[in-house]
Amino acid sequence: MIRQLKKAAAPGAPRQGSPEVAEVVAGVIADVRARGDEAVREYSERFDRWSPESFRLGPEEVERIVAAVPAQVVEDIRTVQANVRSFAERQLESMAAFEVETQPGVFLGQKHLPIAATGAYVPGGRYPLTASAHMTVVTAKVAGVQRVTACTPPIRGQVPAATVAAMHLAGADDVLLLGGVQAVAAMAVGTETIGKVDLLAGPGNAYVAEAKRQLFGEVGIDLFAGPTEILVVADDSADPFVVAVDLLSQAEHGPDSPAVLITTSEDVAHAAMAHVERLLPGMPTNDMAGPAWRDHGQVLVVDDLDEAYRLADEFASEHVQILTEEPRRALEQMRNYGALFLGEGTCVSYGDKVIGTNHVLPTRGAARYTGGLWVGKYLRTVTYQEVTDRAASAALGELCGRASRVELFEGHARSGDVRAAKYAGADLPW
Ligand code: NAD
Repeated sequence: MIRQLKKAAAPGAPRQGSPEVAEVVAGVIADVRARGDEAVREYSERFDRWSPESFRLGPEEVERIVAAVPAQVVEDIRTVQANVRSFAERQLESMAAFEVETQPGVFLGQKHLPIAATGAYVPGGRYPLTASAHMTVVTAKVAGVQRVTACTPPIRGQVPAATVAAMHLAGADDVLLLGGVQAVAAMAVGTETIGKVDLLAGPGNAYVAEAKRQLFGEVGIDLFAGPTEILVVADDSADPFVVAVDLLSQAEHGPDSPAVLITTSEDVAHAAMAHVERLLPGMPTNDMAGPAWRDHGQVLVVDDLDEAYRLADEFASEHVQILTEEPRRALEQMRNYGALFLGEGTCVSYGDKVIGTNHVLPTRGAARYTGGLWVGKYLRTVTYQEVTDRAASAALGELCGRASRVELFEGHARSGDVRAAKYAGADLPW
């Protein structure tokens, strides 16, 4: 049985994918397509009040900005990027190419080719999301992407120096101070000064996510990584204070960020809710976390952990924090999540900022069909084949002839017939 102790005041995700957002985004994309740089500049002025001489930062400008970033910040960026890089390298190793001889003289193979050019979107509307630069640029470079264009908006009119440093240190080939739909559209369709990419990656707000959705097909996208979400599963062993702090850690992303608690303990639920209410007013980011909790926060009490995991799978949340006595049970039982955080020793913020797994993760239930950003998203898995044995090719040719004619494909059939005739002396039926 499920008891709902706190309902979302505004259930659903109001802005994401709404017709209003879709219309604005479609207009900007069409305009950037038609008028290129001129339109990019107009939208940057309109949405971000940002119109520098050039959106692209030259090498000297980048060096100057990086040099002004405090040494500790640079050192931390390097440490985190090393963590992200080493996990991504391990992912790359797991994608070994292979070739198999399925019968004598018949060779089938698979390999992974990096995409040539990608656009890394690094959000910066509300917060300078420096960590997104590690996630998108470092991972692309580990995959072997040749050209990475990294875009981030100015933050309230200022250059986000740490983010620029992170993009540069991660190996971005091009760094642009440009945000929102105009950045995503420019990278996807190309303008006079911004090169067209093959794949768009990176998280963003409802506008950015919708832009990627609309441009998909013309370019590849990593995944639907919109406004962030957290779901905590807790049993009676959980510390309600930690539960509350962790819920708010993601709610502060924005007023459209859902935070959900599913627990087997009514005591933990009540205590965690009380902590949230007490903590919120003193949080410097209360203007985001407060509405997020009020409008999209939910607390559900269930009878046992089996039910908790079943229900959590229905949410298919981006982040799932497990605060139970045996957290690894979730790893066995749960199926739908972007990333799992097992036990009190870790938390979503570690994944977001430092630990090394990728923080670009599926939202709005997309975890039902995709995982998060990883090296494989920057690679194309391609296949090849070769038949070196004439008898094997002749046998395949006969099979191909029959199989193709079932589908009324005479042209396909003849490619098989010709080999059967050439290699095994079969009669051409035409
Ligand atoms: P952002 O960079 O995504 O968006 C800022 C841009 O939005 C601005 O540059 C502006 O051009 C554009 N914009 C704002 N209002 C607009 C309007 N009315 N019409 C058209 N364009 C408009 O930065 P943000 O807003 O801070 O959002 C970052 C988002 O990224 C958050 O929602 C956060 O939760 C999400 N996020 C998701 C993940 C994930 O993996 N799913 C990870 C990190 C962050």
